[in-house]
Amino acid sequence: MVVGRFAPTPSGRMHLGNMFAFLLAWLGAKAAGGRILLRMEDLDTLRCSEEYADLIRGDLEWLGLEWDAETPKQSSRSEVYQAALDSLTERGLTFPCWCTRGELNIVNAPHASDGHPIYPGTCRGLTEPRPGKAAYRLKVPDEEISFVDGLCGEYRENLARECGDFVLKRADGVFVYQLAVTVDDGETGVTQVARGRDLISSTPRQLYLQRLLGYPAPEYYHLPILTGADGEKLSKRDRALDMGALRRRYSPEELTGRLAFAAGLTDREEAVSPRELIPLFSWDRVTGRETVECIE
Ligand code: GLU
Repeated sequence: MVVGRFAPTPSGRMHLGNMFAFLLAWLGAKAAGGRILLRMEDLDTLRCSEEYADLIRGDLEWLGLEWDAETPKQSSRSEVYQAALDSLTERGLTFPCWCTRGELNIVNAPHASDGHPIYPGTCRGLTEPRPGKAAYRLKVPDEEISFVDGLCGEYRENLARECGDFVLKRADGVFVYQLAVTVDDGETGVTQVARGRDLISSTPRQLYLQRLLGYPAPEYYHLPILTGADGEKLSKRDRALDMGALRRRYSPEELTGRLAFAAGLTDREEAVSPRELIPLFSWDRVTGRETVECIE
């Protein structure tokens, strides 16, 4: 049984790119006769709110993307993430780190593909604790982690060389996306992940965590990034493309038609409901391009 998920971060109104990912995640699950889960990724409690979570539920319903169950929001799951961290720590796979962002961001430090500095290993071998609160990092192996993405093909990364030991829990006690998403996808039996191409570089870290925590790897489909006619990525800050504005401008079927055409599922931009797309859907029909233009 295919189990997909919507995993929005309720820190703002959803925009066109989020809806594109939701539509394809929903079609991927529904066309396979599967289920789709909704999970609020609200680890950043300062920026996330229940109001945004409600707007997201409303926007999904408006488009016609019903979900089979909502699983607990991430801000309520610290104990579960702590248990996962403890199990890694007991096996000697983590270490406390006192480095500040400033120390790690020094000029000329090599940076990973998603922009964070590659951890130079400063605290990995410390025998004496330093004063102050520590973050917890995972020791990563000098090994290529590879997977075949359903849209992008083979993707590989050597975690030691291209990422470095990464943070699982920040010094302020907040758990990090990579750990939370791995535990949640694993515990809720997610078998299919469809999300934006900007997250593909996180996948090797999640695959490595799945291996350590004993979860099977889902299938991955990293979707093209939507751009404007100028080829520029649509910005989250562009209020004209958030769901508040889009709902005033389009009917649900018109917006779905636009997204389905951008995905490569239809030959013409025509109003259509998500349900009508189910029989047309197969991952083979979704474009493997890195970006697609989706708005005039
Ligand atoms: N919560 C993430 C976001 O809104 C998505 C994470 C994921 O799909 O793995 O960008």
